[in-house]
Amino acid sequence: MQKQNRRRFLQSSLVLGTSLVLPPLLHAQTGIKSDQVLNKKLGVALVGLGYYSTDVLAPALQETKNCYLAGIVTGTPAKEKIWMEKYNIPRQNVYNYQTFDRIADNDAIDIIYVVLPNSMHAEYTIRAAEAGKHVICEKPMALSVAECQSMIDACQRNRRKLSIGYRMQFEPHTQEIIRYGREQVFGQVKYVNASAGFRNRSPKTHWKLQKAYGGGAVMDMGVYSIQAARYGTGEEPLSVTAQAFKDDPARFDEVDQEVTFQLEFPGGAVANLMTSFRVSTNLLYVAAEKGWYSLHPFSGYRGIKGTSSKRAIEFPSINQQATQMDEVAWCIEHDQPMRVPGEEGLQDLKVVEAIGEALKTGKKITIR
Ligand code: NAD
Repeated sequence: MQKQNRRRFLQSSLVLGTSLVLPPLLHAQTGIKSDQVLNKKLGVALVGLGYYSTDVLAPALQETKNCYLAGIVTGTPAKEKIWMEKYNIPRQNVYNYQTFDRIADNDAIDIIYVVLPNSMHAEYTIRAAEAGKHVICEKPMALSVAECQSMIDACQRNRRKLSIGYRMQFEPHTQEIIRYGREQVFGQVKYVNASAGFRNRSPKTHWKLQKAYGGGAVMDMGVYSIQAARYGTGEEPLSVTAQAFKDDPARFDEVDQEVTFQLEFPGGAVANLMTSFRVSTNLLYVAAEKGWYSLHPFSGYRGIKGTSSKRAIEFPSINQQATQMDEVAWCIEHDQPMRVPGEEGLQDLKVVEAIGEALKTGKKITIR
């Protein structure tokens, strides 16, 4: 279907309320206001108490209005006491990987937040859904499209909500960019340039440098570049070409260190994207028929700055993770669609898989 026709078809389908399955980003239109507060907070259990849980999510849960840190799942006994004392978590809400499934009997836990190495996302999301809990799963959603689909299926089967930890979609500068793409505020998008990377100095033994765990720059940071191109254009990519670079092949013998890749979109836009464990970079630039817009940085926890050829893009800085979890809790309690449902994570894994194929074959790969 021609892009303009497709857009009009989708809009009219929305108005008519048909049972059309919508592209994930369109769900954003149904998002709640961040000041909507529940009478009773939902309980969140963090699974995996590594960097992101310890330094970011647990502190963010001290700022949330609709949910609170109710429980933990950890394989390290020493962490149990520290977390119980620090966050006033009762013993009955503390689990390890052997006792995990008993969460099914705990009414204090409403949402399980999977913050484990990428290769463990599918298993724990499915087990959480089977335990009757709603799930937030960190990015990248899983190792493959097939795993993503099995996670979506498990949540549907158990009538539980699933959201992926793409915190940027809750951030106001980013939401403005998403609107520009969707509504073609600057006309048809022609070109996207996005890069997301940092200097990863971890030893080879770290899971992010191991293939079996779903390591590598594309899985870790590349999904941000993919997201940027998808929401920058408001479209889904048709094809990808990709190139890999390494300056430390001994440490990065299993996973990619730096990848550049190009996406082509149905409306004619081309995205030149990059992700890296070799260099620190974070930029999104979109050129359209009637101007340009840019975020720099575009995927940091704070300090997102926006500018465009027409107007400044200025919004208050927010706690992205607190906003994300509050909105997820609100939508669960009011049975609303997730802003970032599982389908959104699956869409990125389609691109990730196609990048892998493009790197292996050196060919342009169609994204299905
Ligand atoms: P991390 O290595 O610091 O933490 C992972 C945790 O999993 C550790 O506590 C570790 O003990 C535990 N674990 C349990 N079983 C394990 C096993 N078999 N092998 C290795 N570790 C095991 O990692 P992290 O940086 O906290 O990342 C966790 C997830 O969160 C990843 O999916 C990552 O992509 C995501 N993340 C997202 C953001 C974001 O901004 N949304 C930021 C950082 C990390």
